[in-house]
Amino acid sequence: MHIYSINDVCKSFNNGKVEANKNITFSIKRGEIIGFLGPNGAGKSTLVKQMVGLLKPDEGDIHFYDQKINSNPEVLTYFLGYMPQRIGALGDLTASEAIRVTCKLKGLTNEATKVEVKTLMDEFDLNRIDKRPLNKLSGGENRLVAFCIALIANPEILILDEPTDGLDPEVRKIVWNKIMTLNREKNTTIVLVTHNVVEAERVLQRVGLINNGSIRAIGTVGELKDKI
Ligand code: ADP
Ligand code: ADP
Repeated sequence: MHIYSINDVCKSFNNGKVEANKNITFSIKRGEIIGFLGPNGAGKSTLVKQMVGLLKPDEGDIHFYDQKINSNPEVLTYFLGYMPQRIGALGDLTASEAIRVTCKLKGLTNEATKVEVKTLMDEFDLNRIDKRPLNKLSGGENRLVAFCIALIANPEILILDEPTDGLDPEVRKIVWNKIMTLNREKNTTIVLVTHNVVEAERVLQRVGLINNGSIRAIGTVGELKDKI
């Protein structure tokens, strides 16, 4: 069974004037690394926001295993880690506070929360930036915290919106290593959005090319090599 099935999803804004997603259809197998590549404004963020339940499709269905999530996104809290482009809602908190709050939202016990906060803060060297709230951090620092929040409680699937955008090269390497290790060792399914062709070719098994709200092509990186 597929972990995700997206069937004929349409989403528009401004009373239909902006058609951000047009008839998007694809499925994702457990354990794969799939990415969506396309220019700014192509509709990538809109697609992943629907997959994580932050936006509701105007038309079409999204299934997580056999659960239709258009109307039931809560099911995702326990299985999914999402890294948005920017952390908005938790911006007044520091990194450790934001991780702690998210652990609580995900239903972790006090003890498990303590362990999770310490593990992530140490692994990604976040203690040095824990004096400032997230909205006072640099773009790259903020995104690293967003990545850590997505990792809480070892989700079965990670959905990452431009995971390494704005990170310096050293941190970028750490983030890619973590993503690839989770996939290899825990069979974590990885779905990501990028406009970085070089990184896409290096890490993705399958790629969907998005332009103007539609998937123009989807297949292995090898199959689509001359289209990327
Ligand atoms: P990408 O992630 O590929 O850069 P987006 O999904 O963010 O693209 O945006 C797709 C299109 O939808 C763009 O034209 C964008 O301006 C528009 N859009 C996205 N979110 C909204 C919104 N909340 N209200 C109006 N238009 C939006
Ligand atoms: P992201 O793609 O991570 O959402 P953006 O800067 O594109 O980052 O969007 C920031 C917020 O503004 C998002 O909630 C998005 O849905 C919304 N947005 C994006 N484009 C538009 C737009 N043209 N009009 C109104 N809201 C928009």
